[in-house]
Amino acid sequence: MSFADLGLSDELLRAVATRGYGEPTPIQKGAIPSVLMGKDLIGIAQTGTGKTAAFVLPMIDVLAEGRTRARMPRSLILEPTRELAAQVAENFEKYGVHHKLSMALLIGGVQMGDQVKALEKGVDVLIATPGRLMDLFSRGKIMLNDCSLLVIDEADRMLDMGFIPDIEDICTKLPKSRQTLLFSATMPPPIKKLADKFLSDPKTIEV
Ligand code: AMP
Repeated sequence: MSFADLGLSDELLRAVATRGYGEPTPIQKGAIPSVLMGKDLIGIAQTGTGKTAAFVLPMIDVLAEGRTRARMPRSLILEPTRELAAQVAENFEKYGVHHKLSMALLIGGVQMGDQVKALEKGVDVLIATPGRLMDLFSRGKIMLNDCSLLVIDEADRMLDMGFIPDIEDICTKLPKSRQTLLFSATMPPPIKKLADKFLSDPKTIEV
């Protein structure tokens, strides 16, 4: 199976070719068609398996297709650390080079002013750590009512870092009718419980 068989747009196939990838990895083969169809997904995969592209690529096409002029963010990617959030943002820029999607990186250790300015202009994608997102939300700087695509990445690390209550809180601020993707290297009971509560009829892919 090649990238062209997964249902991605020509623009994304060009971006992938530029990166020099030959074939999609198993998590990409399993996840991409399912995300493009709008299904919820549990991906049990470690870092290094190509899981970032497994959600970033189909997200770009989903967002490009449903493009609106709405100012409120349409999707949210939650990462446990600033470094991971920054890496995902970098991937989003590289793969999304032929699309005109806007993005805001909301992480701690950076002045809030620029983040607030980006939010005021309107963004398609928020890439955030839970702490900074909650902080901006409680200051009334973010509306999550239009966020109909949510990615919870590295869920087991979120658990280790004590972020599960924040994630539950964030999930309740998003519309109920949304697509949710959860990635985790392992599935301990609290993550299973989180998935049961916030995902709807998910497809599970384990690599
Ligand atoms: P990740 O698991 O998302 O951290 O990705 C690990 C590394 O694999 C990154 O450096 C990606 O650029 C690379 N990668 C992702 N997908 C592919 C692919 N289909 N073929 C070759 N390398 C890939």
